[in-house]
Amino acid sequence: MIKFLDLNSQYASIRPDVDAAIASVIEKAAFIGGPFVNDFEQAFAGWLGVDHCIGVANGTDAIEIAIEALDLPIGSEIIVPANTFISSSEAVTRGGHSVVFADVSTDCYTLTPETVRAVLTPRTKALMAVHLYGHPCDMGGLREIALEHGLKIIEDCAQAHGAEVGGIKVGTIGDISTFSFYPGKNLGAYGDAGAVTTGDPALATRVRKIANHGRVAKYVHEFEGRNSRLDGLQAAILSVKLPYLQSWTDHRIAVADRYIAGLDGIDGLTLPVRQSWAKQVYHLFVVRTTQRDALAEHLARNHIQTGIHYPVALPKLPAYAAHTQQTAEFFACRSDQELLSLPIGEHLTFTDVDTVIRSVRDFFG
Ligand SMILES: *Cc1c(COP(=O)(O)O)cnc(C)c1O
Repeated sequence: MIKFLDLNSQYASIRPDVDAAIASVIEKAAFIGGPFVNDFEQAFAGWLGVDHCIGVANGTDAIEIAIEALDLPIGSEIIVPANTFISSSEAVTRGGHSVVFADVSTDCYTLTPETVRAVLTPRTKALMAVHLYGHPCDMGGLREIALEHGLKIIEDCAQAHGAEVGGIKVGTIGDISTFSFYPGKNLGAYGDAGAVTTGDPALATRVRKIANHGRVAKYVHEFEGRNSRLDGLQAAILSVKLPYLQSWTDHRIAVADRYIAGLDGIDGLTLPVRQSWAKQVYHLFVVRTTQRDALAEHLARNHIQTGIHYPVALPKLPAYAAHTQQTAEFFACRSDQELLSLPIGEHLTFTDVDTVIRSVRDFFG
Protein backbone atom coordinates (compact mmCIF):
# COMPACT_ATOMS: atom_id res chain seq x y z
CA MET A 1 0.00 0.00 0.00
CA ILE A 2 1.39 3.42 -0.94
CA LYS A 3 -0.10 5.75 1.63
CA PHE A 4 -1.19 9.31 0.98
CA LEU A 5 -0.01 10.31 4.45
CA ASP A 6 1.93 8.26 7.01
CA LEU A 7 2.25 9.93 10.40
CA ASN A 8 3.37 6.67 12.06
CA SER A 9 6.53 6.32 9.99
CA GLN A 10 7.48 9.92 10.77
CA TYR A 11 6.92 9.33 14.50
CA ALA A 12 9.05 6.16 14.33
CA SER A 13 11.94 8.21 12.96
CA ILE A 14 11.92 10.76 15.83
CA ARG A 15 10.26 8.78 18.61
CA PRO A 16 12.83 9.14 21.44
CA ASP A 17 12.91 12.93 21.10
CA VAL A 18 9.13 13.27 20.90
CA ASP A 19 8.58 10.98 23.89
CA ALA A 20 11.16 12.88 25.95
CA ALA A 21 9.60 16.23 25.04
CA ILE A 22 6.14 15.05 26.06
CA ALA A 23 7.46 13.67 29.36
CA SER A 24 9.24 16.91 30.06
CA VAL A 25 6.08 19.03 29.57
CA ILE A 26 4.19 16.75 31.95
CA GLU A 27 6.98 16.79 34.57
CA LYS A 28 7.04 20.60 34.49
CA ALA A 29 3.22 20.76 34.26
CA ALA A 30 3.75 23.46 31.61
CA PHE A 31 0.50 22.70 29.86
CA ILE A 32 -0.69 26.20 29.03
CA GLY A 33 1.72 28.99 28.14
CA GLY A 34 5.16 28.69 29.71
CA PRO A 35 8.59 27.81 28.39
CA PHE A 36 7.64 25.26 25.72
CA VAL A 37 5.24 27.65 24.02
CA ASN A 38 7.71 30.56 24.24
CA ASP A 39 10.54 28.40 22.90
CA PHE A 40 8.53 27.25 19.91
CA GLU A 41 7.24 30.75 19.12
CA GLN A 42 10.82 32.04 19.10
CA ALA A 43 12.20 29.11 17.15
CA PHE A 44 9.50 29.35 14.49
CA ALA A 45 9.86 33.14 14.17
CA GLY A 46 13.62 32.67 13.77
CA TRP A 47 13.18 29.92 11.20
CA LEU A 48 10.86 32.14 9.15
CA GLY A 49 12.78 35.36 9.64
CA VAL A 50 9.92 37.34 11.18
CA ASP A 51 9.84 39.36 14.40
CA HIS A 52 6.67 38.02 15.98
CA CYS A 53 5.05 34.59 16.23
CA ILE A 54 2.02 34.00 18.44
CA GLY A 55 0.90 30.41 18.99
CA VAL A 56 -2.86 29.85 18.81
CA ALA A 57 -5.17 26.84 19.03
CA ASN A 58 -5.40 26.01 15.30
CA GLY A 59 -5.01 27.42 11.81
CA THR A 60 -8.64 28.50 11.53
CA ASP A 61 -8.44 30.52 14.74
CA ALA A 62 -5.21 32.02 13.43
CA ILE A 63 -7.06 33.43 10.41
CA GLU A 64 -10.01 34.66 12.47
CA ILE A 65 -7.71 36.37 14.96
CA ALA A 66 -5.52 37.87 12.21
CA ILE A 67 -8.58 39.40 10.57
CA GLU A 68 -9.87 40.74 13.89
CA ALA A 69 -6.45 42.21 14.67
CA LEU A 70 -6.48 44.18 11.40
CA ASP A 71 -9.51 46.04 12.77
CA LEU A 72 -11.13 46.65 9.38
CA PRO A 73 -14.48 48.46 9.17
CA ILE A 74 -17.29 45.93 9.72
CA GLY A 75 -18.67 44.72 6.39
CA SER A 76 -15.39 45.15 4.52
CA GLU A 77 -14.94 42.99 1.45
CA ILE A 78 -12.08 40.52 1.73
CA ILE A 79 -10.92 38.66 -1.36
CA VAL A 80 -10.47 34.91 -0.94
CA PRO A 81 -9.54 32.36 -3.63
CA ALA A 82 -12.39 30.16 -4.88
CA ASN A 83 -10.22 27.07 -4.45
CA THR A 84 -9.06 26.58 -0.86
CA PHE A 85 -10.21 25.01 2.39
CA ILE A 86 -13.29 26.67 3.90
CA SER A 87 -11.33 28.12 6.85
CA SER A 88 -10.02 30.88 4.61
CA SER A 89 -13.52 32.21 3.82
CA GLU A 90 -15.25 31.15 7.04
CA ALA A 91 -13.00 33.43 9.05
CA VAL A 92 -13.99 36.41 6.91
CA THR A 93 -17.70 35.92 7.55
CA ARG A 94 -17.20 35.16 11.24
CA GLY A 95 -15.30 38.43 11.51
CA GLY A 96 -18.34 40.34 10.26
CA HIS A 97 -16.97 40.90 6.76
CA SER A 98 -18.01 39.91 3.23
CA VAL A 99 -16.33 37.12 1.32
CA VAL A 100 -15.52 38.01 -2.28
CA PHE A 101 -14.24 35.04 -4.23
CA ALA A 102 -11.54 35.43 -6.87
CA ASP A 103 -10.47 32.84 -9.41
CA VAL A 104 -7.15 30.98 -9.26
CA SER A 105 -4.52 30.48 -11.94
CA THR A 106 -4.71 27.45 -14.23
CA ASP A 107 -1.10 26.46 -13.56
CA CYS A 108 -0.44 27.07 -9.83
CA TYR A 109 -4.03 27.21 -8.51
CA THR A 110 -3.44 30.40 -6.50
CA LEU A 111 -4.78 33.98 -6.67
CA THR A 112 -3.07 36.15 -9.27
CA PRO A 113 -2.93 39.94 -9.69
CA GLU A 114 -5.35 39.54 -12.64
CA THR A 115 -7.93 37.44 -10.78
CA VAL A 116 -7.80 39.84 -7.83
CA ARG A 117 -8.20 42.94 -10.03
CA ALA A 118 -11.27 41.34 -11.62
CA VAL A 119 -13.20 41.41 -8.33
CA LEU A 120 -11.90 44.61 -6.69
CA THR A 121 -14.53 47.12 -5.56
CA PRO A 122 -14.32 50.34 -3.53
CA ARG A 123 -15.30 48.25 -0.48
CA THR A 124 -12.37 45.84 -0.81
CA LYS A 125 -10.19 46.21 2.28
CA ALA A 126 -8.03 43.09 2.31
CA LEU A 127 -7.04 40.03 0.34
CA MET A 128 -6.13 36.59 1.56
CA ALA A 129 -3.13 35.16 -0.22
CA VAL A 130 -3.54 31.40 0.28
CA HIS A 131 -0.33 29.66 -0.73
CA LEU A 132 -2.27 26.61 -1.82
CA TYR A 133 -0.65 23.19 -2.12
CA GLY A 134 2.64 24.81 -1.02
CA HIS A 135 3.02 27.08 -4.06
CA PRO A 136 3.38 30.73 -3.05
CA CYS A 137 1.16 33.42 -4.55
CA ASP A 138 2.80 36.10 -6.70
CA MET A 139 3.35 38.35 -3.70
CA GLY A 140 5.10 41.05 -5.72
CA GLY A 141 2.05 41.46 -7.93
CA LEU A 142 -0.40 41.24 -5.04
CA ARG A 143 1.54 43.82 -3.04
CA GLU A 144 1.39 46.26 -5.93
CA ILE A 145 -2.41 46.01 -5.93
CA ALA A 146 -2.51 46.31 -2.16
CA LEU A 147 -0.41 49.48 -2.25
CA GLU A 148 -2.48 50.98 -5.06
CA HIS A 149 -5.80 50.34 -3.30
CA GLY A 150 -4.80 50.51 0.37
CA LEU A 151 -5.52 46.83 1.02
CA LYS A 152 -4.19 44.66 3.82
CA ILE A 153 -2.68 41.30 2.91
CA ILE A 154 -3.31 38.23 5.04
CA GLU A 155 -1.15 35.27 4.06
CA ASP A 156 -2.71 31.86 4.74
CA CYS A 157 0.40 29.70 5.00
CA ALA A 158 -1.37 26.56 6.30
CA GLN A 159 0.03 24.54 3.37
CA ALA A 160 3.26 26.44 2.82
CA HIS A 161 5.73 26.22 5.73
CA GLY A 162 9.03 27.26 4.19
CA ALA A 163 7.73 28.22 0.74
CA GLU A 164 9.54 31.24 -0.69
CA VAL A 165 9.00 34.10 -3.11
CA GLY A 166 12.30 35.30 -4.56
CA GLY A 167 14.17 33.82 -1.59
CA ILE A 168 11.85 35.31 1.08
CA LYS A 169 9.75 32.92 3.13
CA VAL A 170 5.97 33.26 3.03
CA GLY A 171 4.55 34.30 6.37
CA THR A 172 6.87 37.32 6.42
CA ILE A 173 5.62 39.25 3.39
CA GLY A 174 2.01 40.31 4.00
CA ASP A 175 0.72 42.47 6.86
CA ILE A 176 -0.12 39.40 8.90
CA SER A 177 0.16 35.67 8.28
CA THR A 178 -1.32 32.48 9.60
CA PHE A 179 -0.09 28.91 9.94
CA SER A 180 -1.78 25.63 10.76
CA PHE A 181 0.08 22.77 12.43
CA TYR A 182 -2.75 20.28 11.89
CA PRO A 183 -1.13 16.81 12.02
CA GLY A 184 -1.08 16.30 8.24
CA LYS A 185 0.48 19.68 7.38
CA ASN A 186 4.15 19.91 6.39
CA LEU A 187 4.90 20.79 10.02
CA GLY A 188 2.25 19.02 12.07
CA ALA A 189 1.49 18.73 15.79
CA TYR A 190 -0.19 15.76 17.50
CA GLY A 191 -3.50 17.58 17.72
CA ASP A 192 -4.71 21.04 16.78
CA ALA A 193 -2.22 23.93 16.72
CA GLY A 194 -1.64 27.13 14.79
CA ALA A 195 0.22 30.43 14.77
CA VAL A 196 -0.02 34.03 13.63
CA THR A 197 3.13 35.80 12.43
CA THR A 198 3.76 39.48 11.69
CA GLY A 199 6.53 42.03 11.52
CA ASP A 200 4.29 44.69 13.06
CA PRO A 201 4.71 44.91 16.86
CA ALA A 202 1.33 46.63 17.38
CA LEU A 203 -0.47 43.89 15.43
CA ALA A 204 1.45 41.23 17.36
CA THR A 205 0.36 42.73 20.69
CA ARG A 206 -3.23 42.88 19.51
CA VAL A 207 -3.15 39.26 18.33
CA ARG A 208 -1.82 38.14 21.71
CA LYS A 209 -4.56 40.03 23.53
CA ILE A 210 -7.36 38.75 21.28
CA ALA A 211 -6.16 35.17 21.72
CA ASN A 212 -6.09 35.58 25.49
CA HIS A 213 -9.42 37.19 26.45
CA GLY A 214 -8.29 40.74 25.72
CA ARG A 215 -6.09 40.36 28.75
CA VAL A 216 -3.30 42.80 29.64
CA ALA A 217 -2.66 41.46 33.15
CA LYS A 218 -4.27 38.77 35.27
CA TYR A 219 -8.01 39.56 35.46
CA VAL A 220 -7.48 42.88 33.68
CA HIS A 221 -9.26 42.70 30.32
CA GLU A 222 -8.94 45.63 27.95
CA PHE A 223 -11.66 44.22 25.64
CA GLU A 224 -13.50 40.96 25.02
CA GLY A 225 -11.20 38.52 23.30
CA ARG A 226 -11.37 34.76 23.16
CA ASN A 227 -9.48 31.69 24.29
CA SER A 228 -7.19 30.37 21.58
CA ARG A 229 -4.02 28.89 22.99
CA LEU A 230 -1.23 26.74 21.62
CA ASP A 231 -0.71 24.20 24.41
CA GLY A 232 2.62 23.15 25.87
CA LEU A 233 2.50 19.57 24.62
CA GLN A 234 1.89 20.62 21.03
CA ALA A 235 4.55 23.34 21.25
CA ALA A 236 7.14 20.87 22.60
CA ILE A 237 6.35 18.37 19.82
CA LEU A 238 6.59 21.12 17.19
CA SER A 239 9.96 22.20 18.58
CA VAL A 240 11.24 18.63 18.18
CA LYS A 241 10.00 18.50 14.60
CA LEU A 242 11.07 21.96 13.40
CA PRO A 243 14.76 21.06 12.87
CA TYR A 244 13.67 18.27 10.51
CA LEU A 245 11.38 20.45 8.42
CA GLN A 246 14.10 21.49 5.98
CA SER A 247 15.09 17.91 5.13
CA TRP A 248 11.45 16.76 4.98
CA THR A 249 10.74 19.63 2.60
CA ASP A 250 13.79 18.79 0.48
CA HIS A 251 12.45 15.25 0.18
CA ARG A 252 9.01 16.51 -0.89
CA ILE A 253 10.67 18.60 -3.59
CA ALA A 254 12.76 15.62 -4.75
CA VAL A 255 9.60 13.48 -4.95
CA ALA A 256 7.84 16.23 -6.93
CA ASP A 257 10.80 16.55 -9.32
CA ARG A 258 10.70 12.80 -9.89
CA TYR A 259 6.95 12.89 -10.57
CA ILE A 260 7.40 15.80 -12.99
CA ALA A 261 10.18 14.00 -14.88
CA GLY A 262 8.33 10.67 -14.88
CA LEU A 263 4.87 11.98 -15.82
CA ASP A 264 5.97 14.54 -18.39
CA GLY A 265 4.35 14.39 -21.81
CA ILE A 266 1.26 12.31 -20.98
CA ASP A 267 -1.63 13.39 -23.18
CA GLY A 268 -4.59 14.34 -21.00
CA LEU A 269 -2.61 14.87 -17.78
CA THR A 270 -1.68 18.39 -16.61
CA LEU A 271 1.17 18.65 -14.12
CA PRO A 272 1.57 21.43 -11.54
CA VAL A 273 3.79 24.32 -12.62
CA ARG A 274 6.49 25.83 -10.42
CA GLN A 275 7.12 29.49 -11.20
CA SER A 276 10.78 30.51 -11.60
CA TRP A 277 10.54 32.90 -8.60
CA ALA A 278 8.88 30.36 -6.35
CA LYS A 279 10.08 27.80 -3.88
CA GLN A 280 7.15 25.37 -3.83
CA VAL A 281 7.11 23.08 -0.77
CA TYR A 282 4.60 20.59 -2.21
CA HIS A 283 2.20 20.12 0.66
CA LEU A 284 0.23 18.43 -2.12
CA PHE A 285 1.16 17.26 -5.61
CA VAL A 286 -1.96 17.99 -7.63
CA VAL A 287 -2.45 16.82 -11.21
CA ARG A 288 -5.41 17.52 -13.46
CA THR A 289 -7.30 15.24 -15.86
CA THR A 290 -10.85 14.98 -17.21
CA GLN A 291 -10.61 11.27 -16.29
CA ARG A 292 -9.97 12.08 -12.61
CA ASP A 293 -12.37 9.57 -11.01
CA ALA A 294 -11.31 6.71 -13.27
CA LEU A 295 -7.63 7.47 -12.60
CA ALA A 296 -8.24 7.54 -8.83
CA GLU A 297 -10.02 4.17 -9.03
CA HIS A 298 -7.22 2.70 -11.14
CA LEU A 299 -4.63 3.84 -8.59
CA ALA A 300 -6.74 2.55 -5.68
CA ARG A 301 -6.90 -0.88 -7.38
CA ASN A 302 -3.11 -0.72 -7.50
CA HIS A 303 -2.99 0.08 -3.75
CA ILE A 304 -2.10 3.73 -4.21
CA GLN A 305 -4.03 6.23 -2.08
CA THR A 306 -4.95 9.63 -3.52
CA GLY A 307 -6.91 12.67 -2.35
CA ILE A 308 -8.99 15.49 -3.85
CA HIS A 309 -8.29 19.10 -2.82
CA TYR A 310 -10.94 20.23 -3.05
CA PRO A 311 -13.86 18.28 -4.50
CA VAL A 312 -16.23 21.28 -4.49
CA ALA A 313 -14.96 24.82 -5.10
CA LEU A 314 -15.97 27.13 -2.24
CA PRO A 315 -18.61 29.21 -4.10
CA LYS A 316 -20.51 25.99 -4.96
CA LEU A 317 -20.69 24.72 -1.36
CA PRO A 318 -24.06 24.65 0.44
CA ALA A 319 -22.54 27.17 2.87
CA TYR A 320 -22.50 29.72 0.02
CA ALA A 321 -25.87 28.83 -1.53
CA ALA A 322 -27.00 32.42 -1.00
CA HIS A 323 -23.72 34.01 -2.15
CA THR A 324 -23.92 36.20 -5.26
CA GLN A 325 -20.91 34.39 -6.74
CA GLN A 326 -22.38 30.91 -6.27
CA THR A 327 -22.51 30.38 -10.04
CA ALA A 328 -19.38 32.38 -10.90
CA GLU A 329 -17.75 31.25 -14.13
CA PHE A 330 -14.42 30.52 -12.52
CA PHE A 331 -11.79 28.08 -13.67
CA ALA A 332 -11.76 26.99 -10.01
CA CYS A 333 -15.44 26.01 -10.25
CA ARG A 334 -14.84 23.67 -13.21
CA SER A 335 -11.41 22.27 -12.32
CA ASP A 336 -12.69 20.84 -9.01
CA GLN A 337 -13.93 17.92 -11.16
CA GLU A 338 -10.43 17.30 -12.50
CA LEU A 339 -7.99 17.74 -9.62
CA LEU A 340 -6.26 14.72 -8.09
CA SER A 341 -3.61 14.75 -5.36
CA LEU A 342 -0.96 12.04 -5.68
CA PRO A 343 0.86 10.77 -2.57
CA ILE A 344 3.71 13.01 -1.42
CA GLY A 345 5.63 13.33 1.82
CA GLU A 346 8.78 12.33 3.60
CA HIS A 347 7.41 8.78 3.99
CA LEU A 348 7.59 8.04 0.25
CA THR A 349 10.61 6.23 -1.19
CA PHE A 350 11.71 6.80 -4.78
CA THR A 351 10.62 3.20 -5.42
CA ASP A 352 7.11 4.20 -4.28
CA VAL A 353 7.22 7.24 -6.55
CA ASP A 354 8.26 5.11 -9.51
CA THR A 355 5.40 2.69 -8.76
CA VAL A 356 2.94 5.61 -8.83
CA ILE A 357 4.44 6.92 -12.07
CA ARG A 358 4.19 3.46 -13.70
CA SER A 359 0.60 3.08 -12.57
CA VAL A 360 -0.42 6.50 -13.91
CA ARG A 361 1.36 5.73 -17.23
CA ASP A 362 -0.46 2.35 -17.43
CA PHE A 363 -3.78 4.16 -17.01
CA PHE A 364 -3.13 6.54 -19.89
CA GLY A 365 -1.84 3.62 -22.00
C1 LIG B 1 -5.55 23.33 7.11
C2 LIG B 1 -5.91 24.63 6.54
C3 LIG B 1 -6.50 25.63 7.33
C4 LIG B 1 -7.03 25.39 8.72
O1 LIG B 1 -6.16 24.90 9.63
P1 LIG B 1 -6.71 24.14 10.95
O2 LIG B 1 -5.50 24.05 11.81
O3 LIG B 1 -7.21 22.81 10.49
O4 LIG B 1 -7.78 24.96 11.55
C5 LIG B 1 -6.71 26.88 6.76
N1 LIG B 1 -6.37 27.15 5.50
C6 LIG B 1 -5.83 26.20 4.69
C7 LIG B 1 -5.45 26.57 3.29
C8 LIG B 1 -5.59 24.91 5.18
O5 LIG B 1 -5.06 24.00 4.39
